[in-house]
Amino acid sequence: AKELGRNNYQFFTAAMNEQLGERLRIEGALRSALERREFVLHYQPQIDVLGGRIFGMEALIRWQHPELGMVAPSRFIGLAEETGLILPIGAWVLRTACLQLLEWQRGGRAGLRIAVNVSARQLAAPGFVQTVAELLAETGLAPRCLELELTESFLMQDVEHAIGMMHQLKQLGVQLAIDDFGTGYSSLAHLKRFEVDVLKIDQTFVRDLAVDPDDAAIVATIIALAANLKLEVISEGVETQDQVDFLRRHGCRQMQGYHFGRPVDAAAFEQLLLADEAR
Ligand code: C2E
Ligand code: CA
Ligand code: CA
Ligand code: CA
Repeated sequence: AKELGRNNYQFFTAAMNEQLGERLRIEGALRSALERREFVLHYQPQIDVLGGRIFGMEALIRWQHPELGMVAPSRFIGLAEETGLILPIGAWVLRTACLQLLEWQRGGRAGLRIAVNVSARQLAAPGFVQTVAELLAETGLAPRCLELELTESFLMQDVEHAIGMMHQLKQLGVQLAIDDFGTGYSSLAHLKRFEVDVLKIDQTFVRDLAVDPDDAAIVATIIALAANLKLEVISEGVETQDQVDFLRRHGCRQMQGYHFGRPVDAAAFEQLLLADEAR
């Protein structure tokens, strides 16, 4: 039994070493990706279906890997969070998104807004509010044109801290959205205390609208909730005209999804803006 124990122990350490090696490799790769400027932002249009025009966009990171090609964020954001590299990466995302938006605004679309994903780890780090304040001051971007997407998991992790953070961010004048709303168990009592401006209905609910009466009911309820609390509401993952019709019928006019446009690089997004202006 003793022998077996030791073998087991050796087996596990070998496996753990391998895991550790793998993680160190990825951490090193992420670090050099930053240095080599291999990250890029793609932009997905957000549409107001009443006028049919683009009112903003969500910035979504990709890793342009020299060998692997375009790497999706699901494959590296988690590790970036665990290793803490999400801090420099997140700072890069914020800065790049703000500078890009300014360029488009100066091109004649002053009202455009950009939504940026902020991870819980970033928000929890000391100095986050300061970083955002400095970025706004330095770029001159109108604060209301920057929307920070927070996750319910961050908000529920430490409710009092989250409330304090949101208050400080609201004092800067930025917009706050709850991403993936409906999936993170935030209670209505909390929602009342959160200084949010926008609820983003999670795409899993939108996806099955037509086939799942429960999802349809949840979506309709979130839209009504937003209206009652005087919050904006935006549906994401909108792929079909049927979904558009349902959402419109229930009073949601802001949408994002493949039906309107996939996330694309800055040059391609600029073409979308030009076509939008010509409407
Ligand atoms: P998310 O914030 O919920 O972003 C929406 C995701 O849904 C994006 O995936 C987008 O490409 C995808 N999507 C948009 N419309 C549709 C649609 O109609 N159908 C379907 N099936 N999918 C659609 P993406 O770009 O792969 O990003 C995945 C997640 O990675 C994001 O989910 C977000 O949580 C995270 N992420 C992306 N960029 C950043 C970033 O800059 N910072 C942080 N912290 N997280 C990021
Ligand atoms: Ca998001
Ligand atoms: Ca989302
Ligand atoms: Ca999501």
